[in-house]
Amino acid sequence: MSYQNYSLKQLQQIDASHHLHPFTDHKELREAGSRIITRADGPYIYDSEGNELLDGMAGLWCVAVGYGRDELADAAYKQMKELPYYNSFFKCSTPTPVLLSQKLVEIAPEGISQVFYGSSGSEANDTAVRLVRHYWALEGKPEKNCIISRKNAYHGSTVAGTSLGGMEAMHKQLGGAVPNIVHVMMPYAYELALPGESDHDFGLRAAKAVEDAILEAGADKVAAFIGEPIMGAGGVKIPPMSYWPEVERICRKYDVLLMLDEVITGYGRTGEWFAAQSFGVRPDTITTAKALTSGYQPLSALLVGDRIASTLVEKGGEFAHGYTYSGHPVACAVALANIDIIAREGLVERVKNDTGPYFAQALGERIADHPLVGEVRSFGLMGAIEIVKDKATKERFSPSGSAAVVVRDHAIDNGMMMRATGDTMILSPPLIWTRDTIDMACRRIRKALDLAEADLRR
Ligand code: PMP
Repeated sequence: MSYQNYSLKQLQQIDASHHLHPFTDHKELREAGSRIITRADGPYIYDSEGNELLDGMAGLWCVAVGYGRDELADAAYKQMKELPYYNSFFKCSTPTPVLLSQKLVEIAPEGISQVFYGSSGSEANDTAVRLVRHYWALEGKPEKNCIISRKNAYHGSTVAGTSLGGMEAMHKQLGGAVPNIVHVMMPYAYELALPGESDHDFGLRAAKAVEDAILEAGADKVAAFIGEPIMGAGGVKIPPMSYWPEVERICRKYDVLLMLDEVITGYGRTGEWFAAQSFGVRPDTITTAKALTSGYQPLSALLVGDRIASTLVEKGGEFAHGYTYSGHPVACAVALANIDIIAREGLVERVKNDTGPYFAQALGERIADHPLVGEVRSFGLMGAIEIVKDKATKERFSPSGSAAVVVRDHAIDNGMMMRATGDTMILSPPLIWTRDTIDMACRRIRKALDLAEADLRR
């Protein structure tokens, strides 16, 4: 049955009646009706009314190679015809997860040697929590199971993902978190640096919060520290360059594992295959998903370092964990084709040497001076625009979070899909964006800011 037989109104009514959406106020949604996206091509998405929108969020941080890639559809079709599904339990395997694992180890930071698959970033983080606790148990230290995370982190929506994350609104609805997870300050200089404190010093102070948490719990009780190299859903918060190497040094000092959540930053977004390479650290686990398949299939890969991997192999014993779709043959076939496109088209190098620096310059020269903008920042093709009432004092509009929504709505009305989180506008475009696409985005964002300013100051 084709959706084309339905009017927009009908689809919206059915949607409101039967479809519960993620992170949505369903009372509000029922009143407003959802925007129905029906097709997409290259960097553009189209809604059911035929409106064209430049997709500044790559779907949800995932469509790295852009829309309409026949190669990915063909890879899925071919695999579905040959072998649509078989599991990787009970000493079985299928060819595509085998070859994908080899490929991932090849592009991963040094020291990564094994891969565990799931279907989502949340699942991969659940795996990561269970795996590091299992590791310490195998090492004869089952009491070393506390995990340190950060306030405002996002690590997924499962119970473990929510517990790991530091989002207050999510914790309030959790009704009991996974035990032994603590949260320390985030490395967000714009709001948390002291007057006169340099970026470098602030980064060291934010890392020191990790050390303080280790000492408070006792190093013999702490399994690992987890963090997004750049906090994504929390508002594209980019740490000072001093932060990650210092966090790594602290983790090594107290024999605490370092877990990176690269669900957003993995596969080229920061101008390297992984942000671990951008920040010069060697993690013990790396959670990845999203751009692994450019979102064309649901797939996550937990990359596991030598230290954990060799203990699993040497000590043996079943790791009692896994998903029906771990190593799904179709999703892995699409991932292989997707990584091939990213490599063949040189998208990682392009972000590093061309579009990333151009994006930073464009935001700095064409957006930063707007009266509503407190700060712009970016790293590779990830960016943020802070919306403020007063540039000098950093005062926000009230209630908090209301102003960015006004900007976002004007942006969408002017052909620019972007997201508002709190008082921050965020951008995470497909890696296929060119200088021209960045120019177009800046024009649309500037216009949205002008229109929002007129509304907000009225
Ligand atoms: N970790 C990070 C850093 C994320 O940004 C996300 C999703 N935005 C997740 C984990 C969870 O991934 P998923 O929604 O695929 O479960």
